[in-house]
Amino acid sequence: MKLIHKFKSPNFNNRNSKIIEFVIIHYTALNSTVESINYLCSKKNKVSCHYLISSDGKIYNLVHENKRAWHAGKSFWRENSDINSSSIGIELDYSPYGNNNKYTIQLINSLLKLLKRIVKNHNILPINILGHSDVAPYRKIDPGKTFPWHILEHNNLINKIYISKNTKILHNIIDKWFLKHRIKTKKRRILFMLSYIGYDISLALKKDFFFNMLLAAYASRYKYYSNYNYNKKNVDKIIKIHFLEIILTKLKK
Ligand SMILES: [Zn+2]
Repeated sequence: MKLIHKFKSPNFNNRNSKIIEFVIIHYTALNSTVESINYLCSKKNKVSCHYLISSDGKIYNLVHENKRAWHAGKSFWRENSDINSSSIGIELDYSPYGNNNKYTIQLINSLLKLLKRIVKNHNILPINILGHSDVAPYRKIDPGKTFPWHILEHNNLINKIYISKNTKILHNIIDKWFLKHRIKTKKRRILFMLSYIGYDISLALKKDFFFNMLLAAYASRYKYYSNYNYNKKNVDKIIKIHFLEIILTKLKK
């Protein structure tokens, strides 16, 4: 795998953690790779990433992996609030509004290669490959609705959520547990599970507006489970299976 080292960003500092646990995937929302390089390497913008992948599949290394690139901003995942210190940030040359509004095969193939290398080098767990919208659901929507998470799943980079028709018993067990612990409303149950999975639920607890944003962030990632098309009626079903999956595989490499 060839990395291009021609352009470097000055926007980084030292990591506060020695362990790299997460990979965060972004889109640039800019019109081209040239524009993105200029933006990410300009000191005044105070943002950067470790890797930028162009729509024709070139991989630019803008910040050394040992350094803390500034890509995630104010973010949170499973007790971690300094995501930049413990992650590698990958920007994809994609904008929902530009000519680059499709994830090309070349870009995705390069992303797969890069992810496989990062996973191997840093022992990243499948549950820790995340989108910016996972770690900042109230501020960010990238890598967006059209990002092909299912391809990452087929490449065993992230976990598949197994949904079978016979999950009624499991649903009942979880529902009984919720009742026993007086977590009664559907909203509270969803928030309990999303929090366990890793999401920041702080704002969603306070306002329905933010609760809906959180659900939208979740749905934009998991909508490809076509039997469980996102709507408020059945989104909790897939979250329940996901929740169980996390409980059962949390410590498994
Ligand atoms: Zn982002």
